[in-house]
Amino acid sequence: MQNLSRRFSTLQVPKLSTPPPQPIRPLFQYSKIQHCRKILEHRIITVLDVCTTLTQAQQVHAHVIANGLSQYSYVITKLIRTLTKLGVPMGTYPELVFRRVTRPNPFLWAAMIRGCVIEGQVSEAVRFYGLMRREGTGPVSFTFSSLFKGCGSVGDVSLGRQVHAQTVVIGGFAADLYVGNTMIDMYLKCGELGCGRKVFDEMPERDVVSWTELIAVYAKSGDMGSARELFEELSLKDMVAWTAMVTGYAQNLMPREALDCFERMRGAGVGIDEVTLLGVVSACAQLGACRYANWVRGIAGESGFGPAENVLVGSALIDMYAKCGSLDDAYDIFRGMKQRNVFSYSSMIWGFAVHGNANAAIELFHEMLTTDVIRPNRVTFIGVLTACSHAGMVDQGRQLFATMEKYYNVTPSAEHYTCMVDLLGRAGRLEEALELAETMPIVAHGGVWGALLGACRIHKNPGIAQIAASHLFELEPKNIGNYVMLSNIYASAGRWGDVSSVRKLMREKGLKKNPAYSWVETKNGGVEKFSAGDTRHPDYEDIKKALEDLLNRLQDHGYRPNLNSVDYDVGDEEKMRILMAHSEKLALAYALLNADTGPTIKIIKNIRICEDCHGFMCGASQVTGRHIIVRDNMRFHHFENGKCNCGNFW
Ligand code: ZN
Ligand code: ZN
Repeated sequence: MQNLSRRFSTLQVPKLSTPPPQPIRPLFQYSKIQHCRKILEHRIITVLDVCTTLTQAQQVHAHVIANGLSQYSYVITKLIRTLTKLGVPMGTYPELVFRRVTRPNPFLWAAMIRGCVIEGQVSEAVRFYGLMRREGTGPVSFTFSSLFKGCGSVGDVSLGRQVHAQTVVIGGFAADLYVGNTMIDMYLKCGELGCGRKVFDEMPERDVVSWTELIAVYAKSGDMGSARELFEELSLKDMVAWTAMVTGYAQNLMPREALDCFERMRGAGVGIDEVTLLGVVSACAQLGACRYANWVRGIAGESGFGPAENVLVGSALIDMYAKCGSLDDAYDIFRGMKQRNVFSYSSMIWGFAVHGNANAAIELFHEMLTTDVIRPNRVTFIGVLTACSHAGMVDQGRQLFATMEKYYNVTPSAEHYTCMVDLLGRAGRLEEALELAETMPIVAHGGVWGALLGACRIHKNPGIAQIAASHLFELEPKNIGNYVMLSNIYASAGRWGDVSSVRKLMREKGLKKNPAYSWVETKNGGVEKFSAGDTRHPDYEDIKKALEDLLNRLQDHGYRPNLNSVDYDVGDEEKMRILMAHSEKLALAYALLNADTGPTIKIIKNIRICEDCHGFMCGASQVTGRHIIVRDNMRFHHFENGKCNCGNFW
């Protein structure tokens, strides 16, 4: 330094007239090389981004080698990621490329680990992690996020815990949002909700991703209380978080809460997308009221996700209108769709089927086949087989069932066998139905035996009913409906001893009958709810009087009460009193008293309609000239001019 200053001090100061000397730039050559390499790297990476075949990637790799870049971790990382994207097995070409790099940086290691995880080789990913640590290279957040994703995808929580431990041992990742989120995700995917929540609670900083994921998992597990608690704590609620709540309520059969939440969401000025709408549509379908159906249809149209534009929302709207009892609206939506897929067809076919419009369902099925592009799936077949079953079209049903695997590559599932047992059973071929249930190639579930039991009720066959029920009691020991059904079958055969032993069985198992409810929709969108023998309704006296009048008129037209529908061994008068207190009869009388229920009376019932009420509704549709629709837990009954479109089989 001293030397240097001395040298400077001895330097002659140049005259002002001469130009100042050029500054000395000793690094000039080096930076030029670096600059050129940067440009080259950039070009290679840009080209790698657009590679769509292995050959193209190999060509780029050749350039990498030719330009002396095969030791540059940055470029090689990109090459490995491209090979991963192209689905090249990590153990082959990518690993060879990787091995040529003498000192891979943490990002290159992470790319190898990520590649293994993507192809499902989680143990390979862990092996690379071990190698990396042995070489003394530290991880980056990307390393852990990949490992967590891998553990989550194979559901290996013990491996996940070890990776979690590594983040703690190495340290410095506690505040990393990305690592934290993937760690929560791993625990949730492994079914460890408690651990996921603990990680969440301990995160110093949390973003909407982690909140929403936890909310969605709580919703899925049916714990809407915890989901809501978390949601309310979240300060910046975005569309995804709101949607998780709306969908959660809908999935947990809490339609009113779903709609309230949706209203709040709209009030908060948050946008909506098709997932939000699908949740809302599902909630409206559960409510079964046309007012809500029309309302959500309007919103879908306004938000640009109307049935004409969005095939998923359109299909859901079809399903919703069918469930609300308005087949015309469902069909209107179906016809208005610019684009239809297998879901739209299946929803419409199912709608026709449950409304007893078998011919329309089958016609539409054939129309779908003529499109040549839309192939029927398992849901389509459930719809079309249900249609055959409800219309007693045994041969057609058998034919369709035989073709589904042969021509359409749809292997019959237990649901399809249920449809077939139902089809045969309803048609009175109980032995055949029993044989099918006993010999079907997959294990019969409760649905199959339930269909057989239902058929035994229609055709009054206590013998086969007993066989079906014994399977059901084993498969669904807590399903009260099966016990009640068997007891009904015994009762209508007058086998009171058997009735009381079924009752005893129910008592021993601590099972209680579900209370029966009926709802009737009023014009202003309200809903009136009735339970069996409900005397608390403010208009009870009027309802009772209207029901008595109606009964007298029906008896003049030949209606006789079906006393067998009562499975209590009591006197006929008492049986009559019980029958007249059934909730759907109360709902009907209320609807007749109140003009605002409209020309079509719509009643929704939570359990199966009994034979007596069915006959009563038939008669009522005749003497009052009204169209009465009853949705029970099986199907829709359309009563018009003294007949039901189910043909008295349900
Ligand atoms: Zn009834
Ligand atoms: Zn019916």
